[in-house]
Amino acid sequence: MDAVSAFILIVEDEPKLAALLGDYLKAAGHETAWIANGLEVIPAIRARAPDLVLLDLMLPGRDGLDICRELRSFSELPVIMMTARVEEIDRLLGLELGADDYICKPYSPREVVARCKAVLRRNRRSLPPEGAPLQIDEAGWRASFHGIELDLTPVEFRLLRTLSAAPGRVFSREQLLDGLYDDHRVVTDRTVDSHIKNLRRKLEQIAPEAPLIRSIYGVGYRFEGD
Ligand code: CA
Repeated sequence: MDAVSAFILIVEDEPKLAALLGDYLKAAGHETAWIANGLEVIPAIRARAPDLVLLDLMLPGRDGLDICRELRSFSELPVIMMTARVEEIDRLLGLELGADDYICKPYSPREVVARCKAVLRRNRRSLPPEGAPLQIDEAGWRASFHGIELDLTPVEFRLLRTLSAAPGRVFSREQLLDGLYDDHRVVTDRTVDSHIKNLRRKLEQIAPEAPLIRSIYGVGYRFEGD
């Protein structure tokens, strides 16, 4: 199933932006509803749960953080958080709100549609498909890509395992660093970047046309595989 049609709730207090998003999402085959006031979001979700919520951070009535927290107390439904400041995303990641993705304004409506599609697909599939290109053998500390065994260092293996366990989730460099070494040696963001670079090179040697690890400017990395 490629085309995923869903009911998407747009929570956005700028009417023009909300209308634009609504148009693009409808053109992609989705049904949408729009709410501009933060206080109305939870009651609306309780009345009719959407398949996905596009949630703006700054809202009149109640902000997106608060809404996301309350939502997560009773529901796992996918949330994409939208914020006007790229530096805000780092802080949001640190709060571990349980949002499925973060989008920074200004965005292109096309990108939002694509991210919605990715999040919806991910949530409709609880297990990685059999025969997925990337296979990780946790116990054996081995990974293969398109049937070819990857020659990875322990650090690269850990990075790949962490990223691929949550496709589509954005990890900050700090979050990736946490799981990188057994000992507590002093490492920097640059260390993560150089390991990622090597890991990417090894993956691209096998399949250059499908970059699996994407850099999110100013934030970190995410795994794009599906
Ligand atoms: Ca706003």
